[in-house]
Amino acid sequence: MFPYNPLTDEIIALLQRRLSPGAVVADPAGLKACAVDASTLSHRPELVVRAQTVDDVQTTLKMANQYNFPVTPRGGGSGLAGGCLPHLGGVVLSTRELCAVRAIDAANFTMEVEAGAISSQVREAAAAHNLFYPPDPAGMDLSTIGGNAATDAGGPACVKYGTTRDYILGLEAVLPDGTLINTGVRTRKGVVGYDLTNLLVGCEGTLAVITALTLKLIPRPPATVGALCAFASMGAAMRAVARIMAEGHLPSAIEFLDHRCLALVGELLPFELPTGKPSLLLMELDGPAEQIAPEMETVISLATNEGAIHVLRAPNEQDRQRIWEVRRQVSLRIHDHAVLYIPEDVAVPLSAIARLVDALPDFEARYAIEIFAFGHAGDGNIHLNITTQYLARQPRAEQGVKALLEMVLELGGTISGEHGIGLAKKEFLPLELSPASIRLQQGIKQLFDPNLILNPGKIFP
Ligand SMILES: Cc1cc2nc3c(=O)[nH]c(=O)nc-3n(C[C@H](O)[C@H](O)[C@H](O)COP(=O)(O)OP(=O)(O)OC[C@H]3O[C@@H](n4cnc5c(N)ncnc54)[C@H](O)[C@@H]3O)c2cc1C
Repeated sequence: MFPYNPLTDEIIALLQRRLSPGAVVADPAGLKACAVDASTLSHRPELVVRAQTVDDVQTTLKMANQYNFPVTPRGGGSGLAGGCLPHLGGVVLSTRELCAVRAIDAANFTMEVEAGAISSQVREAAAAHNLFYPPDPAGMDLSTIGGNAATDAGGPACVKYGTTRDYILGLEAVLPDGTLINTGVRTRKGVVGYDLTNLLVGCEGTLAVITALTLKLIPRPPATVGALCAFASMGAAMRAVARIMAEGHLPSAIEFLDHRCLALVGELLPFELPTGKPSLLLMELDGPAEQIAPEMETVISLATNEGAIHVLRAPNEQDRQRIWEVRRQVSLRIHDHAVLYIPEDVAVPLSAIARLVDALPDFEARYAIEIFAFGHAGDGNIHLNITTQYLARQPRAEQGVKALLEMVLELGGTISGEHGIGLAKKEFLPLELSPASIRLQQGIKQLFDPNLILNPGKIFP
């Protein structure tokens, strides 16, 4: 219970005795490495436990209850909301070493994998059996599959395939009191009891530590083709998205960049961008080659009818990598460009994307900020990167963030499409959730974790 006890030498010595050799990390470099994630926040742990076995996870949590110290689960540390940072001290419990692919059952399209496996390696392991694990968060070379589950990570492929949640059949997880449970099923269907799997997915490590996952795989699409289309305005680009989808095409990615992003990466494009406030769409289709090549031509002609001025086709892997590089460079260059950077990842109904993006100049003027908008046009998930060149303008920029989130909610959207609430956005939770909903969710937390030792102080204000 609050306040927590400090980790005394005696407790650390006990952990060292009870955990696997090498699991306890107390050196300054090891602690520093777990003090940050990909948000702008930083909190140093008192101790890091790099679990080597599921039993290490159970023992750490049992001792946390006994000696009253907080435990914060950590995967790849690529989160953008500060969810894996130990802002109340205690132990950071890394699941990174639990990374084995336990089994791939090609006949039943499933994979059992430990939580610390790097997400891109999970995809590759499936591909080696000619199977497909669709979720593709852009940070998948850094993130773990357990972290993806804990945040229900999305990505460009969401528009066609859904989020991480849609590919988790069951979980192996350790409850805050150290009890090991298995949730869900190994079959394609199952409705026995409450859906604990989907309660733990997206809980940001506040209800249990995930140690392994049973994933649903699908047949691998044999081919993928891509294209970039440049438009004179965001409105025209969004009309093209609406038209393409209304005509029955379901791209496996449909990403957009606004004019500010284009100003940062325009020189990577082989054509002159129109003046004014141009916008870019990056589209992909996957499926049998003989089907998607002509379909892409239809999609391009729909985009052209809606005002696409330039088109760059990417029929093969090399060309596709080239167009994705444009998208990848945006995040890096926004970081380099701004002194202060606040990443938001709202989602709005598709029909409201253009309205939101059109309203951004007004927010920029009112709050003395620059907003770079890019994201997943097909599912309304927009990354709004709020920046300023002057640290002194931070309080005003934060007021701008709040005003923006309020507008997103007025448009029928949500304050986080995929990054989660963690520490960074918890003060905004009451903007979206009613007091009754927050009370109910806190009651669930209390039931799982009566001593509040697992990732305390996250999500709820
Ligand atoms: C360049 C870049 C691009 C990104 N692109 C995307 C994107 O396209 N889509 C997207 O959704 N996100 C994206 N992200 C954010 C991030 O990669 C995801 O949130 C990812 O799911 C975090 O996984 P992780 O293993 O790094 O988790 P961490 O950052 O270590 O932790 C994130 C949260 O999960 C919890 N957690 C971690 N492991 C476990 C576990 N085993 N059991 C229980 N809880 C656990 C932590 O406590 C924390 O609350 C991006 C990040 C970067 C840096």
